[in-house]
Amino acid sequence: MNLKSQPTDGKFGTFGGKYVPETLMPVVDELEEKYNEIKENKEFNEKLSKLLKDYAGRSTPIYFAENLSKKYGGKIYFKREDLLHGGAHKINNSIGQALLAKSMGKKRIIAETGAGQHGVATAMACALLDLKCEIYMGSNDVERQSPNVFRMRLLGAEVHSVKSGSQTLKDAINEAIRDWVTNVESTYYLIGSVVGPHPYPMIVRDFQSVIGKEIKEQFPKITSQEIPDILIACVGGGSNAIGTFYPFLDDECKLVGVEAGGLGIDKGKHSSTLVAGSEGVLHGARSYLLQDEDGQIQETHSISAGLDYPGVGPEHSFLKSQDRVEYVSINDEEAVNAFVEMSRLEGIIPALETSHAIAEAIKRAQKLGDKQSILVTLSGRGDKDTPIIAKHLGNNL
Ligand SMILES: *Cc1c(COP(=O)(O)O)cnc(C)c1O
Repeated sequence: MNLKSQPTDGKFGTFGGKYVPETLMPVVDELEEKYNEIKENKEFNEKLSKLLKDYAGRSTPIYFAENLSKKYGGKIYFKREDLLHGGAHKINNSIGQALLAKSMGKKRIIAETGAGQHGVATAMACALLDLKCEIYMGSNDVERQSPNVFRMRLLGAEVHSVKSGSQTLKDAINEAIRDWVTNVESTYYLIGSVVGPHPYPMIVRDFQSVIGKEIKEQFPKITSQEIPDILIACVGGGSNAIGTFYPFLDDECKLVGVEAGGLGIDKGKHSSTLVAGSEGVLHGARSYLLQDEDGQIQETHSISAGLDYPGVGPEHSFLKSQDRVEYVSINDEEAVNAFVEMSRLEGIIPALETSHAIAEAIKRAQKLGDKQSILVTLSGRGDKDTPIIAKHLGNNL
C-alpha cells in the first residue's frame, strides 16, 4: 500500500472517516471540496508562505546539539519549532486554517483547547486576520491554565468555560461540536491537531508538513547525509509528529513517535494511546483510543498537558498498522530528567511535551555510532512549564 496515498474516501487504511451527525455531513463535505480547491491556489499559498515567514518566523533552523551528542553519542539535531511566534508549531496550523476559513467567507472561528496552547495560537491568527474568535475550554483547565486564558482574552477571544463531564479537553471538544452544529453557516471549526473527521486530519497534516519539507531541504546542506537516520517527535494528537514524518514516509529512515507514559502504563495513569489503547470511534474518526471494556473513554494522565488526550490522529493508527512508524512511551520522570538535561547542556528550555521526544533520543543515542544522526522536532519552548517543574522537583534542582 502506498503510505502517502491521499485519503480521498476519508480513510487511512481502516482508520479515519467521517463519523459525524447528519447535519454536519454536508459541512465536512463542503470543507473537503473547498480545501482541495484552495490548496492548489497560487494566491492562497503565497499569502500563507508570506505570513509563515514574516509573522510566524519560518523557516526555523536545524541545530546540532554538540554537548548532548558528546555526552550520549551519535549526532543529535533539533528542528527548532520552539523559535516560532507563540513558542510552538501550533501557529503553522492556526494561520493555515484561519486563512482557509477566511477564503471560505466564514467570519466566526471556534476552537477547543486543553492546555490553552492551541487556543492562544488560534486567538493570534484570528486577531491577525480580523476574525471573531471563541474558544471552548474545560473549566478545570480554565483554572489550571489561567495565564493562557488571560492571553486568549487579551488577544480578543472569548473563552467559554465548559462545566460538563470531566471538565477537560474532551468535554470542550463535545461543546465545540455542539456550537458548530448550531452555527454551521457562519462558523468555521478550527481543530488543533490531526484529529476529528476527515478532512481535518489531512488539512492539519498538510499545514504541519512544512516542518518535514524544510528538514529535507536543510539537512543535506548542514551535514554529510541526505536525511537523518532517525526522526523522533512527541505525539499528543500527533500534528508535529506527522508534520515531521510525512515527507519522509517513502525514505529509508527510522521514524519514532513518543507518547506520554505518565505514571506508568501498568498503573493505568498515562496517555499512551497507540502503545496501550484499542480501536474505536472518538470525535468523528476511527482510531486508537483509551477506553474501557464498555467503550467508555478513560481518564488520561501526563505531566504534560499537551499530550493528555485519550485519542490520536487516525493516520498514526494507520502508520502503526503498516509498521512504518514505531510508537513508544516515555514516563513523567524520564521527561522531567530530559527537560533538565536539555536546559543544562544546551541552554534550551524545551516544552514538557517535547521533553518526551528528547528522552527517547537520549536513550537511542547511546546505541548509535558516531556518524549516525538523530533529528528531534523541538515542538515548543518550555517557559510555560517552569512552574510545573519547580513544583515537581522542589528543592532537588
Ligand atoms: C500541543 C503541543 C504538542 C502536542 O500536539 P501534537 O498535535 O501531538 O503535535 C506537542 N508539543 C507542544 C509544544 C505543544 O504545544
